[in-house]
Amino acid sequence: MIRHTTTPVVTPLSIGPSAAASAPQLHREFRTDEFWRDIPGWSDVTEAEFGNHLWQSKNSVINLKQVRQVLGTRVPDSFFTDVEAGLRKAPMNIRITPYVFALIDWDNPTDDPLRKQFLPLGSQMLPDHPFYLADSLAEDTDAPVPMLTHRYPDKVLFLPLTTCPVYCSYCTRSRIIGGSTETVEKDTYGANKEKWEAAFEYLRQSPQVEDVVISGGDAFNMTATHLTHIGENLLAIPHIRRLRVATKGIAILPQKILTDDKWVGAFLAIHKRAHEMGKQVYIHTHFSSPREITKWSAMAMQRLYAEHVIVRNQAVLQAGVNDKIETLSLLTKQLSWMNLQPYYVYQHDMVPGCEHLRTPLGVGIELEKQLRGTTAGFHVPTFVCDAPGGGGKRHIASHEHYNPETGVSVWRAPRVKPGRLFLYFDPLHALSPEMQKRWTVQAEREAMVRDAIHQVEPNLGGEQAKMIEDLLQIAVH
Ligand code: SF4
Repeated sequence: MIRHTTTPVVTPLSIGPSAAASAPQLHREFRTDEFWRDIPGWSDVTEAEFGNHLWQSKNSVINLKQVRQVLGTRVPDSFFTDVEAGLRKAPMNIRITPYVFALIDWDNPTDDPLRKQFLPLGSQMLPDHPFYLADSLAEDTDAPVPMLTHRYPDKVLFLPLTTCPVYCSYCTRSRIIGGSTETVEKDTYGANKEKWEAAFEYLRQSPQVEDVVISGGDAFNMTATHLTHIGENLLAIPHIRRLRVATKGIAILPQKILTDDKWVGAFLAIHKRAHEMGKQVYIHTHFSSPREITKWSAMAMQRLYAEHVIVRNQAVLQAGVNDKIETLSLLTKQLSWMNLQPYYVYQHDMVPGCEHLRTPLGVGIELEKQLRGTTAGFHVPTFVCDAPGGGGKRHIASHEHYNPETGVSVWRAPRVKPGRLFLYFDPLHALSPEMQKRWTVQAEREAMVRDAIHQVEPNLGGEQAKMIEDLLQIAVH
């Protein structure tokens, strides 16, 4: 087995000076080595094979047996036992492209930020927060027709399929994405043109809507024909001005942008058609760690950039993945170097199976403070908390009240749900031992929530009071 102990670097975009010799310019350095050859099962795979999207999809790792087969004796048996325990609790199945799988540091998978995103370890998982919700953002509640969430006045979220090229442990839609698991039964659905008609018709009849996020699921899992069908139908609606195609693909399967000419051709045709109509089509992707970035990412971005495609990034803040300023700063600058706009950093949603990945609100606020000023303002991502219960994205420091000791924060969303309050909770493991103890007592946690609300709204009444009472009933532990 060939072991690559050093990481050759290049400046893959011909748009800047070589920085290989300049240590502080790490963001300009991209892996070029054949890192996959460190994986026993892929030690003979050529660069041409590894660079082909079909090879990547065919060799994606989708169960523990395959994890074992590909890794062989590269990791101790105890690692597989730990993953097995994780999968018994996790709401997401395994699906990892060879590209991401091979970027994991298999000398230390326990602490690796990529492993943490895709392969749960039972030893690291924690009980869910008492106020977690499977549909934490109330996307189903705000759905006027199936597959469509309409929360903001002029924007909708369209979920045309619920499969992806990888399955992320932190997925906010773990209730529907990626097939049933031992803990969650799901109504996963693939692309199906007939079933999208109700969403198109709703949008034709909703003149206030100008912006459609096409998410899921992942647009990489649509055929070129499906992508064209959705693009043409939506662009044909006069008041729809902007489409955002959401895919994690550039981060975890950049080879598709480089070798799937049919899919890329379909996307570029929609992009061009939109431009001719005076409309816009963007790609929104989610890199969470600089470790996901290699020359393949840069080459994929170069192809899109050459075609004038604007790509924006939405990262999710995750403990042990990107919750250090050095990591976030490197990620931000490296994305910018590739002409990929850092758009959002999300506070982790309060969904099941993710407690070990969540960070306190205060961490996000501090990171935002630290990150601002490291580069041009238009490339500093906005840190947001998507208010549980359907308040929508709020700037992370715009809470009405936050008590870092109890971990309770209170939010308003005046233009989205006027008059309502929303609550977000820090992960319990980040609180002091005394506070964690308080949280085990139902009366105590109710008192903490009521106190936080009282700070914002001393005379709560009517529907709002009922909603809070309902929320307090949700607590499951
Ligand atoms: S790619 Fe997106 S939708 Fe798919 S599992 Fe990951 S976070 Fe969820």
